[in-house]
Amino acid sequence: MTSELVNVSDLNQYSYCPRRYWYLHFYNTQGRNYYRVEGKTKHENQSTRGNWLNELYLESEELGLKGKIDVLDLGNDQVVPVERKRAESGDYYRSDELQLAGYCLLLEEHLGESVREGAIYLYETDQRMHIPITENHRKTVQEQIEAMRSMSVESVPPLTDNRKKCEACSAREYCMPEETAMLEPDKATGTAFEQEIHNESN
Ligand code: SF4
Repeated sequence: MTSELVNVSDLNQYSYCPRRYWYLHFYNTQGRNYYRVEGKTKHENQSTRGNWLNELYLESEELGLKGKIDVLDLGNDQVVPVERKRAESGDYYRSDELQLAGYCLLLEEHLGESVREGAIYLYETDQRMHIPITENHRKTVQEQIEAMRSMSVESVPPLTDNRKKCEACSAREYCMPEETAMLEPDKATGTAFEQEIHNESN
């Protein structure tokens, strides 16, 4: 297992599809080394305005996490991290909740007090959604960190079990889900692709 810290935004990628995270992590699928870019800019844009602090970079060896909180709302009794999202569907996803939970864990350690709530701001609808951070979120984040740090370049994860995710996936041209399902059926076992292969071969 690597001792490399997991980027909180990658909790979102992994939750969407572990195979997609594998491509982002082991291949330069975005045309740049985004880990280096994120590290270089980590303190450049930080500023405070009223009860808002933007771009707080935190890392924790103990949690195995690092990341940059978009915005911190300092206005109430409790500090609330806010993650801004663009979502054409007008809603957020479970993977967004896990990313937010990762920021809450980092913030808790930084402040030395519990952070029980975060918020997701949706640009499209101009809505701020309050997300209570549950024990289930915390447990899932910890499990994901362990799984992500255990990944290796030799072991490519299977295809997603939700075929719709592939349509909007930025790693699709590298992953080639249909071709992989035909040529490496073991990667499709238990996924929506398995039935497709079965139908095509009958
Ligand atoms: S194309 Fe589908 S299976 Fe491949 S990485 Fe993306 S979501 Fe996962």
